[in-house]
Amino acid sequence: MPVADAKDGSAVPEREAEGMDRSRHMEDELREQNERFSAAVENMSHGLCMFDADERMIICNGNYINIFCLDAKVVRPGIHFIDILRHSVDIGIASQTADELYAIRKPYIDQAKPSTYEETLSDGRIINISHRPLALGGWVSIYEDITVQRRAEQDLKEQHRRFDAALANMSQGLLMYDADGKMIVRNRRFLELYNVTATDFPLGTTHRDALERLLELGIYTKIDVDSEVAKTEACLAAAKTHSAYRHLTDGRTVLVTRRPMSGGGWVVTFDDVTERRRTEERMTHLAHHDTLTGLPNRQMFRERLDHALEDASAPLAIFSLDLDRFKAINDTWGHPAGDWLLKSVADRLQRCLRSETDIVARFGGDEFVIIEFNLKSIADAEKLAKRVVEAIAKPFRDKSRDMHVGISLGIAVFPDDGSDADTLLKNADTALYRAKSEGHNLYRFFEPGMDAMVLARRALETDLEAALPRQEFDLDFQPIMNIASSEIVGAEALMRWHSPERGTMAPDKFIPVAEETGLIVPLGEWALRKACTAAASWPAGLRIAVNVSAVQLKSGGFARSVISALAFSGVPAGRLELEITETVLMDESETVLKTLRQLRELGIRIALDDFGTGYSSLGYLRRFPVDKIKIDRSFIHDLGNRDTAAIVRTVIGLGAELGITVTAEGVETEAQLDILRGNGCTEAQGYLIGVPSRAADIQRLLKTTAAFGSG
Ligand code: C2E
Ligand code: MG
Ligand code: MG
Repeated sequence: MPVADAKDGSAVPEREAEGMDRSRHMEDELREQNERFSAAVENMSHGLCMFDADERMIICNGNYINIFCLDAKVVRPGIHFIDILRHSVDIGIASQTADELYAIRKPYIDQAKPSTYEETLSDGRIINISHRPLALGGWVSIYEDITVQRRAEQDLKEQHRRFDAALANMSQGLLMYDADGKMIVRNRRFLELYNVTATDFPLGTTHRDALERLLELGIYTKIDVDSEVAKTEACLAAAKTHSAYRHLTDGRTVLVTRRPMSGGGWVVTFDDVTERRRTEERMTHLAHHDTLTGLPNRQMFRERLDHALEDASAPLAIFSLDLDRFKAINDTWGHPAGDWLLKSVADRLQRCLRSETDIVARFGGDEFVIIEFNLKSIADAEKLAKRVVEAIAKPFRDKSRDMHVGISLGIAVFPDDGSDADTLLKNADTALYRAKSEGHNLYRFFEPGMDAMVLARRALETDLEAALPRQEFDLDFQPIMNIASSEIVGAEALMRWHSPERGTMAPDKFIPVAEETGLIVPLGEWALRKACTAAASWPAGLRIAVNVSAVQLKSGGFARSVISALAFSGVPAGRLELEITETVLMDESETVLKTLRQLRELGIRIALDDFGTGYSSLGYLRRFPVDKIKIDRSFIHDLGNRDTAAIVRTVIGLGAELGITVTAEGVETEAQLDILRGNGCTEAQGYLIGVPSRAADIQRLLKTTAAFGSG
């Protein structure tokens, strides 16, 4: 030890030795400290660089070199700061020039307080730089590569932005609750939807409070808050979505859907489905109802019937209904009037029902169907059928006119006439068909065996349809005689159908069918033309009588077809006589009367056929002055009866009084002719005078016996 050495009187004085010791010791300590410092600097995770007051580098660590990709051989202690910057520009890591970089850094260097800033390198990395001035001048910079962190932050920010945009722009209202049941998200649409403010529903509001607030504000009509909270809890526990409709006091409907979130808490969405629900309701209504009358349609009727039959314990009746003469109404008055009539019929039918549960449906056109439930007896069905017939028989009066239609009904009863909907409907249709073929304003119950009759009738319709193009129709002519002069004054055209399958058919067999199918219109037109053409070759002055159906008169265009037949044949209007029946005049249709008047003005004569068989009301004679009355042959056949003879006498007297020709139909005996002559009847027609004959035969007859030139 140097101290001991000194005591011994050695060469080194004690103090000096002491001083040397201390300084060596300090040197050691300093070296050690330096090593520790270097080790710490070298091992720190950030880059570090220290500069002296002359801006020369004192020390830097490997991370600093690495971060800036510097060359350690160039960047060594003693290098000036500006040279480091130049080097970094040289190696291409700096994104600006050295001078620019220096100009940016200089204010920080000169500043006496610590500062932090960021620098972006040419490769896109972001370096955070912490600048600390040193007490004796110079500074220390700590460098940290924060690229990853910054990117993550930016991504998060972008995600937030997108989330906010989505939330603000979604068409649904949205609330999000955290695991503690507190509201953490609420979008604008939610506030708009319920017309509430953010202060009504601040974030942090609990689910229960939110529900209570909606009730308080009078937005929801009625909800049970406890049960709603319980429902949410159940939906969270089961991790299942739950949806329910909420009815708002303002009439709107909102679909509320709760969806649990995987990390706890849940999302509620609110969807205003008012319009959608209304459209859906409208669609279902449309799909199940007839648009014109608002009655249930075929589909709904079928559903109800099928359903009723599934557990039917009591009998029920199916009524198949069809309007009579509806086509004529449509043709005469136009479709708006037809539509109005159908609506009025629908109303009346509905009023005929006695039970809330009974249904009347429209199947289309003028077809309606009724189900009468809980039949106690057949008499119930019969009563309803009668009510319907009566209700529809009354005239339908709209603003300007009275319309007359009738209705026919076919009835099938469950379980007697069928156990399923198809059979019952088919059988009701069969019964309807029967009712229609028997006349108008009738109801018929289904009976076994009716099907065969219906099939036969359908076959007749089909054959009849084909007969006109196949030219199977022909006309016979029956002469008409003036009783006073015993001269033939004309002939009536009577239609015949020479069917290859059915033989020759009398008009009574097929005219009603042709009237129903509408075939009578072209058929009648054909008859007119054919009759006039035949009459053209008869001696001038002889009349031709043609029968005209009410359907033809109502079909529109009738006058035109008459005029065209006259023009075609060259027969003057004064030789044509149109025979109509009472029903034509009974129908108070203005167009029909107008047509008849128009024809009469042309000089065509109108005869009232089958007089006495219809309603025999004389009222219509006043409304439309006919030229001739034809007493039905049933009266002539019965002339032996005193009462009948009195009626015939009265009609002849009436004719004379009104200046109308009276023709007796079906005169078969001289005795009948004598009585008629005795009573002053104008004309006679019947087998006694002449049977209906082929055109050629009648022409021969007329040429020999006719009253030439008489009118
Ligand atoms: P209608 O106009 O009253 O014709 C007279 C009917 O009496 C004819 O029957 C005729 O053959 C029949 N008849 C004539 N004299 C006698 C007789 O002395 N004794 C008997 N028992 N019968 C006699 P038809 O030809 O069967 O015609 C029946 C009905 O068919 C006609 O009655 C008429 O209403 C209708 N009809 C005939 N042709 C046409 C037509 O072209 N168009 C339309 N719409 N109806 C027609
Ligand atoms: Mg006739
Ligand atoms: Mg007649």
